[in-house]
Amino acid sequence: MKEEKREIYTDTFASYVFTDSVMRERLSEEVYKEYRKTVDEGSELSSKAADEIADAMMQWALEKGATHYTHWFQPLTGFTAEKHDAFLIPAGNGKAINEFSHKALIKGEPDASSFPSGGLRSTFEARGYTAWDCSSPVFLKHDKAGVTLCIPTAFCSYNGLALDKKTPLLKSAEAINKQALRILRLFGNRTTKKVIANAGAEQEYFLIDRDLYNKRQDLQITGRTLFGARPPKAQEMDDHYFGTLKERVSCFMRELDEELWKMGVYAKTEHNEAAPAQHELAPVFTDVNVATDHNQLIMETLKRVALHHNFACILHEKPFEGVNGSGKHNNWSLSTDDGINLLDPGKTSEDNAQFLLFLCAVMKAVDEFPGLLRASAASAGNEHRLGGFEAPPAVISMFLGEQLTEILNRIERGEHTEPTSKSKLEIPVAAIPNLSTDSTDRNRTSPFAFTGNKFEFRMVGSSASIAGPNTVINTIVAHELKLFADELEQASDFHAALQKLLMRTIREHKRIIFNGNGYSDEWIRRAEAQGFPNIANSVDAYREYIKEEAIHVFEEQHVYTKEELEARYEIKMSKYSKTIGIEARTALQMAKRQILPACIEFSTRLAQNVRALEKLVSTEALRPRSEFLNRYLLLVNSLEESIYQLEEKIAEIQNHDLDFYEEAVLCRDGVLPIMNEMRKYADALETMTDQEVWPMPTYSDLIL
Ligand code: ADP
Ligand code: MG
Repeated sequence: MKEEKREIYTDTFASYVFTDSVMRERLSEEVYKEYRKTVDEGSELSSKAADEIADAMMQWALEKGATHYTHWFQPLTGFTAEKHDAFLIPAGNGKAINEFSHKALIKGEPDASSFPSGGLRSTFEARGYTAWDCSSPVFLKHDKAGVTLCIPTAFCSYNGLALDKKTPLLKSAEAINKQALRILRLFGNRTTKKVIANAGAEQEYFLIDRDLYNKRQDLQITGRTLFGARPPKAQEMDDHYFGTLKERVSCFMRELDEELWKMGVYAKTEHNEAAPAQHELAPVFTDVNVATDHNQLIMETLKRVALHHNFACILHEKPFEGVNGSGKHNNWSLSTDDGINLLDPGKTSEDNAQFLLFLCAVMKAVDEFPGLLRASAASAGNEHRLGGFEAPPAVISMFLGEQLTEILNRIERGEHTEPTSKSKLEIPVAAIPNLSTDSTDRNRTSPFAFTGNKFEFRMVGSSASIAGPNTVINTIVAHELKLFADELEQASDFHAALQKLLMRTIREHKRIIFNGNGYSDEWIRRAEAQGFPNIANSVDAYREYIKEEAIHVFEEQHVYTKEELEARYEIKMSKYSKTIGIEARTALQMAKRQILPACIEFSTRLAQNVRALEKLVSTEALRPRSEFLNRYLLLVNSLEESIYQLEEKIAEIQNHDLDFYEEAVLCRDGVLPIMNEMRKYADALETMTDQEVWPMPTYSDLIL
């Protein structure tokens, strides 16, 4: 049985992908070679070759049932966008043929006026261009509507400014490639042609029964519960219910895996036993560009397949107050085209020196640009998660583990262990143990952890694209590698200069290493005392993008221009306000039209009961009930009060001509606190109201 399954899967794996081997099979040798050169060396593709590729692509897609193609891109909304075109074109005489030319493959012109551009594309010039990204494979999407050929593309304005997330990501990958190669050459490596930044993003999500989900306006509209009292802690699960649910979840996961495998995403889903409604999916890592595309596909597929099993998949970072939030652990590493992981401690002292240099570059980058890392993980949703239950704090630090930290300490002190082999190196680096098998991964509380042969950036939110965080990591590490290379290339004695550089870097930046419990208050106090930024909210975090040092590093590495950064700053800030605006209006609607009417009904019933009993029993005997009614009504009054306050605050924002920053600040300091107040009263009322009257499923219904 098992064997049979395996065979089916290896057969269907990537069957929806126009893979390299399919291309080799279907293209002439000459065109295939030209294509490879374009992918590997960035050379231009001739229109003749592009025509042949386009035609082969179409034939392949038609054989698989496709009728349409789309340029699949990632505008600054953070989602993916598609514009579908049919292959079919009129051929005269009322007939039609299928056609897909190189022009249609390479360049598209979606009407882009409705995508946010932060002023990069003036409204009278609505055109944006999409350009084929041939480094990410073309694939097919199957859904109820049919089969579509999806062409991963970059999206730019007419004057070449990036309007998407892919373009800067590709540029950052190129930046780190260039700088890392300089370092490898210094170590005498003449064979590596390319250094690749890799990512593997573990995706967390919640699965909620769709019938219950449909009864919660907040979940449907905003992705998170805006109300809901915490369930009793020790609530026992109904075994039978959980049993059938478990089976439904397993069926969901099986279909999910199969769908993703067909699209070439090697995914492994897991049932998270700790919280029945929360689950995780980990794909096998790949280069950051493809990994980003895959993560978008994973999120789309999660949502789509959930529907087939009467679930709603929730990707929000904090759908439920008081329960674990969802994140996306972004595993990041550097490897070479000839198969070396540059973050893997080597066997020889020379290898280890190289490893330590890359490690120090990352350490320095994290210490010098914590604000950018924090900003790259900022969103209205993630703000509720960071620093909360089982989520990294908003303070950036780096976990290295005791062993590696001790090795760095020894290097800093200039201590030698026994002279190592015949190496000229004066640093005790020959003795790095196998780190992946030691305790490096035990600490789950660090926002940026070294886990054996990769770094794990754990701040990223579950609904976010991983393009932004990886663009930042690539850029800041490329910047440090550049400085290292500049210094070492000048040195007359490479090994002496290397040792000096390592000692200095460790001395100046080891303060960022923290191996303790990142969730503890003690650490946050200590970190703040040491001057580490603790950026609690997104509005403050976004400002990091337009600080002088940020603009400098992005321009230096040719990743973003100042103009592009300012546009992103504006878009992110506006998106923040929009998100909170939608949440506030949803909360109002629920409070006014669902919660308040239920409370009025229940309190009326209570009052009638008190009135009826008054005639029959002593005042003394009625006191607890009257007092309960009294307390209940006071809470109802407070709830009403907060409704008016929230309405006023929303009107204030609408009636003033605020710029996007002022609006975001008002949302953060004005709207959110009132929403929290309102929730406090509503949640208290929920615990006092007859559950038959309560107008929506509670936390116990949803997640237990
Ligand atoms: P865990 O975190 O549960 O111990 P792993 O360490 O095996 O699991 O991997 C978690 C994620 O990290 C997976 O998505 C995996 O593909 C990814 N990953 C593993 N090695 C690397 C690497 N060298 N570079 C980037 N991502 C990696
Ligand atoms: Mg992990």
